Amino acid sequence: MATGKINVSVENIFPLIKKFLYSDHEIFLRELISNATDATLKLKHLSSLGEANVEYGNPTIEVKVNKDNNTLHIIDQGIGMTKEEVKKYINEVAFSGAEEFLDKYKDSAKDSGIIGHFGLGFYSAFMVANKVEILTKSHKDEPAAHWICEGTTEFTLEDAEKSTHGTEVILHINDEDKEFLEESRIQELLVKYNKFMPIQIKFGTKEETLPLPEDAKEDAKPETKTVDNIINNPNPAWTKQPTDLEEKDYNEFYKELYPMQFEDPLFHIHLNVDYPFNLTGILYFPRMAQDMNIQKDKIQLYQNQVYVTDNVEGIVPEFLTMLRGVIDSPDIPLNVSRSYLQADGAVKKISSYITRKVADKLKSLFNNSREDFEKKWNDIKIVIEYGMLSEDKFFEKADKFALYPTTEHEFFTFEELKEAIKDNQTDKDDKLVILYASNKDEQHSYIQAAKDKGYKVLMLDSPIVSHLLQKLETTHENISFVRVDSDHIDNLIKTDDEKISKLSDEEKEKLKSDFEKVIPAEKYTIQMEAMDSTAAPLIITQPEFMRRMKEMQQTGGGGMFGMGNMPEMYNLVVNTNHELINAILNTKTEKKQQRLIKQSLDLARLSQNLLKGEELTDFIKRSFDMVK
Ligand code: ADP
Repeated sequence: MATGKINVSVENIFPLIKKFLYSDHEIFLRELISNATDATLKLKHLSSLGEANVEYGNPTIEVKVNKDNNTLHIIDQGIGMTKEEVKKYINEVAFSGAEEFLDKYKDSAKDSGIIGHFGLGFYSAFMVANKVEILTKSHKDEPAAHWICEGTTEFTLEDAEKSTHGTEVILHINDEDKEFLEESRIQELLVKYNKFMPIQIKFGTKEETLPLPEDAKEDAKPETKTVDNIINNPNPAWTKQPTDLEEKDYNEFYKELYPMQFEDPLFHIHLNVDYPFNLTGILYFPRMAQDMNIQKDKIQLYQNQVYVTDNVEGIVPEFLTMLRGVIDSPDIPLNVSRSYLQADGAVKKISSYITRKVADKLKSLFNNSREDFEKKWNDIKIVIEYGMLSEDKFFEKADKFALYPTTEHEFFTFEELKEAIKDNQTDKDDKLVILYASNKDEQHSYIQAAKDKGYKVLMLDSPIVSHLLQKLETTHENISFVRVDSDHIDNLIKTDDEKISKLSDEEKEKLKSDFEKVIPAEKYTIQMEAMDSTAAPLIITQPEFMRRMKEMQQTGGGGMFGMGNMPEMYNLVVNTNHELINAILNTKTEKKQQRLIKQSLDLARLSQNLLKGEELTDFIKRSFDMVK
């Protein structure tokens, strides 16, 4: 029997490995299965070259738990190792790899990110085992070898009995890591990390219910059959060519990724590049809820079909982290910190490639089937709007297909919209005035007033819309967005018909001072306007600028400093052509006049949802008293 000493400079590497990334102990299994997969794929390669000494067949990787012996076994039918190769690859290569890895990252281990996901390799077994054995036979015609190491730098290596080629790694699990002897825990890990690995993985058996025969009696019990419990789908959709897949294959794969998801995705994007970096994957647009945050962390990152993480921050642009699906790239450096990742050139290229592909897909959907695109708009707009805000490159493309629906369910692109309103929605400086609403119910009367005048009103209700409008106003010349309740329409939009006030200037002056006695000047700016007699007598509006700044601040607008204590300011537009206003003017007793003004103001506030709490209670009581 040969014994030996592993040649290392860091004597305490084993304790280090054991401590390393405590929470990530579980990755040892992925590392060992990756090795088993590599060894099997190597044999496949040799076979294809006609250089293997054995039949490749249909190899399986098997994982077994032996609770009586406290051991976990990972068995492959791969290339195997000769004694010399064990010496070289396990004692030297694997060790120096582990050593280098630890040396480099032991200080930054706390940078919890992708770091630690890869690189430790075979020696990660010592995170959970105090003794590790390798029983291996090379495909070459040489005796099998048995290597034992008890978590020190000493090892033994001797000839052994093993008739078939391949490697069995045996872990003697530590007392404190007993969880890795639980079948449910191993099953969970295998599903998490190895669900799509290219070589079939078997873990025990399971009962499968057989379908009932056609002529079965009504009370017949279905038969069950014991079958191998195969963990993985070795040929997941993203590894195939888009031309070989149909819509239903994509939808089925979506269900495979998200078994709890019952709804089909809206559409998919198949990613497939090999230059200047290698990347495959499928991204799905799910139906989006309004809340952007709960949707994140659904995209899974793989490297050569090995699961790495579901945190793709830094690799996928922020606005696309709301999507779902998989990305598989061997070119993403993983044992580095997040901040490094974001600065990495290859990763930047990957991120902009993904952005471009998504934009191209959306554009082709828009071009090929506008109607369908319009139908989906409500579910995808949040991603597109967010992307337009955060990535200039995406904005340039999306500006051509982003849609602006009206309250009448027409859909315009920005250019189409400009064309549609250019003749009758301009202000006194000939700027286009784009009217929009954010809430159909709350702004109902304003929307109606605008529609009555033949204006288009957009329905824009995303939480980030105020930011987007700001961006659109700075990129497109000569336009401004105004919410329907921001100012009175006649003040905004130039019209041909001149409004004649029924009141004289003196009467208006008197009316204004009557109002000012009742209405707090620090909250309301009173404006006298000659409107249709059918328009409301009093209308409260909130200036677009103020309201939008407030909204942007609430939804995290960058650079909105010092707006925190902006007072609530409103315009109170008095319709001098309304009968009620005339009546207020002509009321002789001051007390009665003030009561009328107060009541009218409260009604105007009520229509803007501004009357609340005690004031609302008082208003209701007063109103009942009046009708009594
Ligand atoms: P890496 O896989 O990154 O090279 P590892 O420490 O995981 O590093 O393994 C070191 C080497 O040991 C591998 O490159 C391979 O040659 C050999 N090896 C490990 N596991 C197996 C296995 N199951 N079958 C054959 N060779 C293996």
